Amino acid sequence: MTKTRCDLCFLLIVLSALTLTSAHSQNQPPAPTPPPFAAVPQASQAQQDNFPAQLLEQLAAIKAAALADDYAYRQVAHLTENIGARPSGSLQAKAAVDYVAEELRKLGLDVQLEEVKVPHWVRGEETAQLVEYAGQAAGTTQKIVLTALGGSTSTPAEGITADVIVVNNFDELKALGHDKVSGKIVFFNEIFDKQKAAGGMAFMAYGEAVRYRGAGPREAAGLGAVAALVRSVGSADFRLPHTGWSFPAGIPAGAVTAEDAELMAHLSAQGKLRIHLTLTPQKLPDATGFNVIADLKGSEHPEQVVVVSGHLDSWDLGTGAIDDGAGVAVAMEAAEILQKLHLRPKRTLRVIAWMDEESGGAGSQTYTKDHSSEFLHHIAAIESDAGAAHPLGFDAKMTAAAADVLRPALTVLQSIGANVLRESTYPPGADISAMSEAGVPALGILQDGRTYFHYHHTAADTLDKIVPNELRENAAAMAVMGYALADMRDPLPR
Ligand SMILES: [Zn+2]
Repeated sequence: MTKTRCDLCFLLIVLSALTLTSAHSQNQPPAPTPPPFAAVPQASQAQQDNFPAQLLEQLAAIKAAALADDYAYRQVAHLTENIGARPSGSLQAKAAVDYVAEELRKLGLDVQLEEVKVPHWVRGEETAQLVEYAGQAAGTTQKIVLTALGGSTSTPAEGITADVIVVNNFDELKALGHDKVSGKIVFFNEIFDKQKAAGGMAFMAYGEAVRYRGAGPREAAGLGAVAALVRSVGSADFRLPHTGWSFPAGIPAGAVTAEDAELMAHLSAQGKLRIHLTLTPQKLPDATGFNVIADLKGSEHPEQVVVVSGHLDSWDLGTGAIDDGAGVAVAMEAAEILQKLHLRPKRTLRVIAWMDEESGGAGSQTYTKDHSSEFLHHIAAIESDAGAAHPLGFDAKMTAAAADVLRPALTVLQSIGANVLRESTYPPGADISAMSEAGVPALGILQDGRTYFHYHHTAADTLDKIVPNELRENAAAMAVMGYALADMRDPLPR
């Protein structure tokens, strides 16, 4: 009996819900129903103390201003279209430093240029043809589309010709040993896991594949290889090669497109495969670059610093829009919004446009050398270096207590869907990693990364890949979180 009554109760509830819904739908959309069993969230004492009503109102005003502001878009448009690609040591990198510094001065910030010794590597010719393979028609070759990896050494101008050995992982390379690798060109055919990327785990897919770009050439060189090639670390099939940093290996190193990787793997499985490879990049003497460091001084604790940042250098193939002109632009906008709204936080908001993230991280290393004694007063650091797509929230490396106290700031961002705080076991941004390792709570904006690696480090990283409204959402996330950290009653706990 009891069971029947309960079933009846359930049926009545469902029926009455349906009735209510249909009654509503006559006139207006149904009111959103809270999920079952969800309690009304209660703010903890620490949250209430740190986020008084006035601060919450200011955060809401900052969000609204960012969602109506095209400042960040204008900045990234200038960086990418008027200046262009900004590799370390280039004239464009210097022009970008001067531009960003001047824009931040115009906002009334206290701007310093921090000198950084940067590598200066310039791309040369990059071509390859398969010159011997199974089933080859007489007198023909097959073109391979590729690009040199950052730091690659040069082949002779006329190129080199050698047998290709295809390996799928480091174990296969090791099993071949020196005798079989010596004098050959090793090709690492590690396949980027597109399903992971499509399922929202793009950075995990990247991490798994990028180790071959990073360490493959050096491992191959250690066994006597004369050059190394990797399959491009990317998630799209537009026959675009993806460049990127690689440990110095002392041999020419390049990335072939996914399509050409497939071709080489298939032909190699059928027999001997030889390639003619020409890569003529040059390593020039180290150059001088700069981090741009711009402070909006805190009203009560100017010595306490909250960093908002992105990196100003880019690879040379595209124009560095999603990697990472966008990150610099949203960090700049965080300051622009506060100035526009006449909001002066208790602590200093420090905008940093990092130099040389892509080719070794000299900018972040120099900042660490110059400022590590102040890291105790660095309350938190944020970097945006995962694109410009819709933000879901933040990756955070901080204590559970710190994450908990930040909840009210995330609630402000809930209306744009940017309220996730995902615990990260590694520093959520290359340029803030030393700070993070030193105990500074660190955050990275967590963007929707499903298409990021279609374009990352390719010629297609250009302004058109940025959706203006998504960039505004990123600026809102950066400005809201930056101001919250700089104006909370207490420094974020460590
Ligand atoms: Zn980047």
